[in-house]
Amino acid sequence: MFFFTHTCFFLLLSLLYAFDLKNVFMCYLILFALLHIYLKITLPVSPLPDKKIWKHAPDGVLTSKLAHLFMSPPLARLDWLAVIWRSCIPPSHSFVFWRLMLSKLPTDENLRLRGCTLVSVCVLCFREAETSSHLFLHCEFATIIWKWLSVKLRCIISLASYSSILDCIPRPCSSQLLDVFAAALVHTVHTIWLARNAIHFSHTNVSIHASMAKYRPLLLCLVLTPKAIV
Ligand SMILES: [Zn+2]
Repeated sequence: MFFFTHTCFFLLLSLLYAFDLKNVFMCYLILFALLHIYLKITLPVSPLPDKKIWKHAPDGVLTSKLAHLFMSPPLARLDWLAVIWRSCIPPSHSFVFWRLMLSKLPTDENLRLRGCTLVSVCVLCFREAETSSHLFLHCEFATIIWKWLSVKLRCIISLASYSSILDCIPRPCSSQLLDVFAAALVHTVHTIWLARNAIHFSHTNVSIHASMAKYRPLLLCLVLTPKAIV
């Protein structure tokens, strides 16, 4: 009823505006739209009290289950699991990527969400608070490594989200090429996480070049012999 009243009010205003412009055709269209809306609405015979409804539920009733699904919608695509869990990638590296995708890594952001009170700063750049998206996607430390990797793989790596990182994998492609791309992306995430932990817990000064130097041989090994790392 509220929507209907306001729609009628808007259309009447439009009608007056159209009359000013002496646009007969416009008046005809507005009257037709008004009539169409009026005929579609079933008005109650007796007055009923207004009530709040949850428009995402078929019956309008908000339950805790619906609220949880709305706040934490299930992941639409799960094929990334088959990409990151591969025999050529050490499980410990895939595990980091898996936890990142599920927001399970103990970054400052996730610890705060779980009730920890702490001062947060990205230890890789000391410019912003440590969120998962900043640490792995937008931090200068991470973006330099991702740019370097995109040059090596000759592809564009999207840093819009964690899952979009995997979109650079060409489809369809051979299993060997999939191994190389998947391993490179998973190792990159693992390298960023290791660098963060080294500074965070050991107060070690980790440089970008040192981090890349650690997993560059790993990538070369994969390119030459895809099944070498098991
Ligand atoms: Zn940073």
